[in-house]
Amino acid sequence: MTIIDTLKNILNPEVPGELPFSYRRVASKRRRRTMCISFDPSGNVLVVAAPYTSERAIQRFLWEKQEWILIHSNKIKKVIVAPRLFVDGELFYYLGHPYPLKTMETSTLVPQLVLSETHFVFQVPPLFPKAKRVRTLKKLFEKWYLKKGEEVVQNRVAYFAEKIGAPYKSIRLKEVSSIWGSCSQAGNLNFNWRLIMAPQDVLDYVVVHEVSHLLHHHHGKSFWACVLSLDLEYRTHIRWLKNNKHLLSYE
Ligand SMILES: [Zn+2]
Repeated sequence: MTIIDTLKNILNPEVPGELPFSYRRVASKRRRRTMCISFDPSGNVLVVAAPYTSERAIQRFLWEKQEWILIHSNKIKKVIVAPRLFVDGELFYYLGHPYPLKTMETSTLVPQLVLSETHFVFQVPPLFPKAKRVRTLKKLFEKWYLKKGEEVVQNRVAYFAEKIGAPYKSIRLKEVSSIWGSCSQAGNLNFNWRLIMAPQDVLDYVVVHEVSHLLHHHHGKSFWACVLSLDLEYRTHIRWLKNNKHLLSYE
């Protein structure tokens, strides 16, 4: 590479792929070399950069910071999602399929939640007090999602980790988390239990992402090559997560 090529690359660097979010550029008033990221009240990404900064330099910068950006924009967006009501007919997702909630009086002693072929069925004993409904359902759904999530995620981690020969220590589903997954240096994998509401291939992408971190503790080229080798459609899945977060919300 010639010196001119190197200089060109610094001024107008390559961007390894499509960003999983859109952004708006804001011109900085002061002459500054560094860029900075902020969010509007809806969680959309704003980049403050000097007017002479090239679009590709901005995209490259956002590419390197994408994980941080997604975590923080999710935190903001979460606030404006409509709350769950736990009424009959309301849709609850499991592996991307919507199942309406249905209440049924049965001879059960304690309230239970079961998934039939078509519905999430809330089985209650006769004369179950209405005042307890929301609190009980919230707990039951969390328990159900967590249990199913553990089953599915453990299976998928084992499957993908074996494909690339990556050893891992533990898998945990976290109850409250604003990120989809994480991987520690020691090989411990954490996942957001809300992923179990997402379609299987989207859940798989998050698993692939974290499993790839077992071998590549960064977001460099070799990491994305590993992701691509396990998930050819990963860009579509990143976009799905970005655009459908509200479907995975639970509060
Ligand atoms: Zn990552």
